[in-house]
Amino acid sequence: MGGDIGRHLPRSHPGNSKKKARSTPKGRQAAQTDLEAISNLIGNDSLSRDLLIENLHLIQDRYHQISVKHLAALAELMGIPLAEAYEVASFYAHFDVVSDNDKPIPELTIRVCDSLTCELFGANPLFEELENRFSESIRIVKVPCMGMCDRAPVAEVGHNHVPNATLSSICKVIANKEVQSNKPDFISFDNYRKTGGYLLLESCVRGEISRDSVIMQLSDSGIRGLGGAGFPTGKKWSIVKSYPGPRVMAVNGDEGEPGTFKDRLYLERDPHRFLEGMLIGAWVVEATDVYIYLRDEYPGIYSALVDEIAVLSASGVLGDTNVHLRRGAGAYICGEESAMIESIEGKRGLPRHRPPFVAEVGLFGKPTLVNNIETLFWVRDIVEKGAGWFLAQGGEKGKGLRSYSLSGRIKKPGVKLAPAGSTAWDLVMNYGGGMLDGHKFKAYLPGGASGGILPASKADLPLDFGTLNAEGCFVGSHAVVILSDQDDMKDVARNLMRFFKSESCGQCTPCRVGTEKALDLMSPSKWNEPVLREVAQCMSDASICGLGQAASNPLICVLKNFSEEVS
Ligand code: SF4
Repeated sequence: MGGDIGRHLPRSHPGNSKKKARSTPKGRQAAQTDLEAISNLIGNDSLSRDLLIENLHLIQDRYHQISVKHLAALAELMGIPLAEAYEVASFYAHFDVVSDNDKPIPELTIRVCDSLTCELFGANPLFEELENRFSESIRIVKVPCMGMCDRAPVAEVGHNHVPNATLSSICKVIANKEVQSNKPDFISFDNYRKTGGYLLLESCVRGEISRDSVIMQLSDSGIRGLGGAGFPTGKKWSIVKSYPGPRVMAVNGDEGEPGTFKDRLYLERDPHRFLEGMLIGAWVVEATDVYIYLRDEYPGIYSALVDEIAVLSASGVLGDTNVHLRRGAGAYICGEESAMIESIEGKRGLPRHRPPFVAEVGLFGKPTLVNNIETLFWVRDIVEKGAGWFLAQGGEKGKGLRSYSLSGRIKKPGVKLAPAGSTAWDLVMNYGGGMLDGHKFKAYLPGGASGGILPASKADLPLDFGTLNAEGCFVGSHAVVILSDQDDMKDVARNLMRFFKSESCGQCTPCRVGTEKALDLMSPSKWNEPVLREVAQCMSDASICGLGQAASNPLICVLKNFSEEVS
C-alpha cells in the first residue's frame, strides 16, 4: 500500500479561534505501519460505518485480540472517533481489547459454557481441571450458552465445539489441532431444488401468488414469532408492508436464550428452507436488502451460509435481493430486536426506547421486518400445504407445531417437534425418554433463563404463548430445562441471575445495578426475601427492555414455589 493511508481524512483546523493552533493533532494517532496492516486486512470496500463490527471480527480473527494500536488504525481508516470504536469493541464479549502494556492473549482459547444445563452436567469442575492443566499456555474462560444444551457440558476449543466435553476429549482435540469449526452436513441447494425448493418463491416473484394471499395463509395458520416474542407473523408482515418504503428485512439468528438450540438445528439440517422463507418475506414487504444476524457461536453454520448465499446469487435465485450476513459478537442482548438492529448498524447493542417500533423506524431508520430463523423456516410449508396443515398439528391448547429445546435431567435431550401446548410431562415422558436414572422430576424452566421456574406439580400446564401468565412465567423460545431432586433451587436461581448480570447492557440503572444487588443478596444460604422482592419489583417495573424486566422471574419463582429452600 502507498504511504498516505489514512492521511487523506479531512482534518479541521483547530486554530480557527483566537487560540493558537495545536502543533499536533489531538488524541492517539495511528502509526503508519498499523494503518497499512489494517488497511490490507479489511480492504478498501469495508469502510462504511455499519461494518465496524465486521472489521473488528477480522482483526480479532487475525491477531486473536484487538490491540489499541490496531483499533486506532481502524478508527482512522473508517473515519470514526477512537472512543467510539473502543466503546463498540469493548461492549462485545468476543472482542479482546488489549492495551499497549497488557500481556498478549494466548493464541488458543477454550471457552467453557457455564449456563444452567452445562453447570448441571459438570461445567465448573471441568473448568477447574482445564485451568489446572493449561494455566498460562491456553486461555480458559467461562462463557454463556453456546446453544448445545442437549450435549452438555460443552466447550469450544478455538472455534471447534466439543460436546459432552471432558478433560480427555478436549486434550485430544488440542493434540490433533482440531481448532476450526466444521460445516454441518445439510441438504444442499441441488437436493433442496429436487424436492421443489424455491418453486414457491419463483411463483411469488412471477406474480402467480399475491402478497396478500401469503400474508393471509400465515395469519390463518396462527404462526407466531418463534424467537420468543410470539407476535402473529402474518400481522407483522402486514404492518411492515403498510409503512412507506424503502423497507428492509433483518433476520434474528442470535438465539442466545440459555436452553435454546432449535434454530441451530434447522440451520444445520435444512438452511435453504429457511432461506426460501426469508426471500418470500423480503418479497412480501418489498425489501431489497436483507440482513441475517447470526450469533458468533455458530461458526460452522456461518461458513455454510456464506457458501449457500453465494450459490443462490450465482443461480439467480436472489434476483435483485441483496443478502448481507452479519456476525454477532457474543452479546445476549442483541437477541432483542432493536439491540440487534443497533448491532447491525455497527454500534453497541443497546435496546432502543419505543415507540417508534422497528416495524416503522428500524434498521437505518427504515421500516424493518424482523423475523426469527424458525419462523421463516415454516413459511414454505405453510403456504404450500395451507394454513390448515399447520393448524391441524396443534394440540388441544395451542395452534400448530412448536420446536421445544429440551434439556436437563432427561434421557433423550434435543429439539422436540410437538404440538403447541404440550406439557412438561408430555415432553419428559413422550419425547425425552423419561428422567435420568436416579433422578426424580422436581422442577422445570418453561422458557429458558427468563421464563421463570415451575415445580413438577405444575408440569401439566400447556406450554404455549400466554398460557403461563398466571404463574408469572412464559414460554418465550420454548426452551424447557428439566430439573431433578438433585438440584438446589438456590443454585439454579443464582446461575440465572449471574447470567443476567453479566449480559445486562448497562443502559438503565434498575437492570444494571438490580441484577448485581440481587446476586449479592442471593449469595447467603438464607435469603433476605423482603429486600429481594423490592429489588425484583424495581427491575421489572423500571427496566427499559425485556432483559431487566424478566431477570427476576427465576428468583421470584423460587421464592414462591420453593420457599422452604431459601428460608
Ligand atoms: Fe440494557 Fe438491562 Fe436496560 Fe435492557 S433492561 S436496556 S439490558 S440495562
